[in-house]
Amino acid sequence: MCGIVGYVGNRKAVPIILEGLKRLEYRGYDSAGLAVRGDNGELEIRRASGKLRNLEDVIRLNPVDGTFGIGHTRWATHGRPTEENAHPHTGPKRDVVLVHNGIVENYLTLRHELESEGHKFRTETDTEVIAHLVEKYLDGKLEDAVRKAVKRISGVFALAIIAKSDPGKIVAARNG
Ligand code: GLU
Repeated sequence: MCGIVGYVGNRKAVPIILEGLKRLEYRGYDSAGLAVRGDNGELEIRRASGKLRNLEDVIRLNPVDGTFGIGHTRWATHGRPTEENAHPHTGPKRDVVLVHNGIVENYLTLRHELESEGHKFRTETDTEVIAHLVEKYLDGKLEDAVRKAVKRISGVFALAIIAKSDPGKIVAARNG
């Protein structure tokens, strides 16, 4: 049972996201991460395996902040509980960044389809196919791309997604 947190506003997002993740620690997790849109306009990702204090150490060594972002505590179902497999995950152009709770039951079919179109995957997770799908469909509004991608996915899930090209919003989706 992972946890998902998102923040959009005028305050610094990272402390708020970390505090939200701490409140969800009781649910259990094996790794954690967050993504925020940094002052440079890029989506910055920080992740760590193990406890939230490891993520806090990563951020202390490589600081980041911004005014909107998403965070996640992961309970691995597909892929080992490594830093690489920790959420958030991105699409190939690193435009879309997302966190996911649940399982993409048809992820292998989708992964093979995307690979045949030239997509290269960086992780062992089922989640990464969603990031690739959303980015493939993104042509303007993030919510339109998410609606298209979600129609392709089977399983029970919750998602929170941000995009560099459609800033200042978090799109959330849930099935089941
Ligand atoms: N299936 C996803 C993964 O293994 C999400 C797991 C979760 O709900 O934390 O990364």
